[in-house]
Amino acid sequence: MTSKRIVIVGGGAGGLALASKLGRSLGLKGEADICLIDRNPIHIWKPKLHELAVGVIDQSVEGVFYRDHGLKNGYRYQRGELEQCDPDAKTIQLAAMYNEQNELLLPPRTLQYDLLVLAVGGISNSFNTPGAEKHCIFLDSLNSAELFHRRLLDGLMLLNDSHQRLSIGIVGAGATGVELSAELHHVIESVREYGYQNISKHHLDIHLIEAAPKILPQLPDKVSGRAQAVLDRIGVRLHLGVQVKEVTQSGFVTQDGTLIKADLKVWAAGIKGPKVFADLTKLPINGRNQVEVDACMRVKGHNDIYAIGDCASLIMDNGQPVPPRAQAASQMAATLYQNILARLKDGAEKPFHYRDYGSLVSLSRFSAVGNLMGNLRSGDFFIEGHIARFMYNSLYQRHLASLFGWFSALVYRLAQKLLRWQRPKLKLH
Ligand SMILES: Cc1cc2nc3c(=O)[nH]c(=O)nc-3n(C[C@H](O)[C@H](O)[C@H](O)COP(=O)(O)OP(=O)(O)OC[C@H]3O[C@@H](n4cnc5c(N)ncnc54)[C@H](O)[C@@H]3O)c2cc1C
Repeated sequence: MTSKRIVIVGGGAGGLALASKLGRSLGLKGEADICLIDRNPIHIWKPKLHELAVGVIDQSVEGVFYRDHGLKNGYRYQRGELEQCDPDAKTIQLAAMYNEQNELLLPPRTLQYDLLVLAVGGISNSFNTPGAEKHCIFLDSLNSAELFHRRLLDGLMLLNDSHQRLSIGIVGAGATGVELSAELHHVIESVREYGYQNISKHHLDIHLIEAAPKILPQLPDKVSGRAQAVLDRIGVRLHLGVQVKEVTQSGFVTQDGTLIKADLKVWAAGIKGPKVFADLTKLPINGRNQVEVDACMRVKGHNDIYAIGDCASLIMDNGQPVPPRAQAASQMAATLYQNILARLKDGAEKPFHYRDYGSLVSLSRFSAVGNLMGNLRSGDFFIEGHIARFMYNSLYQRHLASLFGWFSALVYRLAQKLLRWQRPKLKLH
């Protein structure tokens, strides 16, 4: 019997966890050929993107290199960007690749699959706001986090030399916007020890703009109230109940015509499927560019294609879609792993059931807050401070465990901590 070719596109929270599990149980034994495609050579867990953007973590320490990881975990890695999918021919097409001088490195490639898993994540949704695409950085990919980092360093240099003020505007006070605001404040407090003598927190204006009447609108009032108290204390300027109608070079124009000035503009509101999905005309793509899947995560009408994570639209029994969150992507990966094993043995696949374990928000060194959904009692309960920080860190630890196994994940984390201890606390290059 020839071994099945299982192609996974997207090595993020869901795709990399799935490739690792399938690789270890099938790939290493030669029982299936597991191929992971990603457009980047390194995996960074997306909830850490804002830390990368401000420079409190470094991708050379936190990143997982697919090629090396694949070698040890039984999957093949190919760098490439999904461009097209032909379910009739059971092929996907990867875009041509160019170097920095725009010279062709690789022509478009076609790959054959027996089973295909789409796990390419999502992107921020500007809701067609004029000027947003042109002027904002969308903090939704490794490239965008690196771009923000470079712009921030430019801003800090100007600030230090010219004594001007730096103004950063962030649209969307969900977890990304709130966490980014707190990290930025922490960075500005810390740069003096690295020679930026002329910079103090009074030189930085952070504007956090949210259409809902409170920050963290999806979370219970107590969580958003505590987070808001921290942001107020550190001087983040909140614009609540404010809708942005246009973005210009100067800043954000709100519904009532006010201009909120910003040198650096970030869009961190809303989420939709990737642009490339609009071109996948043979698959059922919804109005938010997500591919529609059934309860077992099979793309509707296509028995050999699955989709997980933010790029998939799975409607739960209560009529609500599975939320675009890391915990959902990793739970989907775990269920799909079991389903693929069952399918290869002609067993029955099980429907996916999302379990909300709660939400945690890190406010840099200032605090952490969140709510946990009760195993211990019904309903949810509020946590903050060290316990919330511990739980927040343990989410990352769980993610690493799904990539390496528990023991190796602990060793990996320890090695990361040692490296971070030995290196600068801020990446300022
Ligand atoms: C700053 C930030 C903070 C967040 N914080 C939290 C949090 O605290 N808790 C939480 O639960 N969720 C959080 N989220 C959401 C969470 O990160 C996502 O829901 C989760 O990562 C989705 O996982 P995924 O596997 O679907 O996609 P992703 O993790 O986004 O991975 C997608 C992968 O696909 C690759 N890719 C994309 N397009 C292509 C293509 N065309 N071809 C090839 N490869 C491609 C990308 O390079 C990437 O590696 C946060 C998100 C952001 C941006």
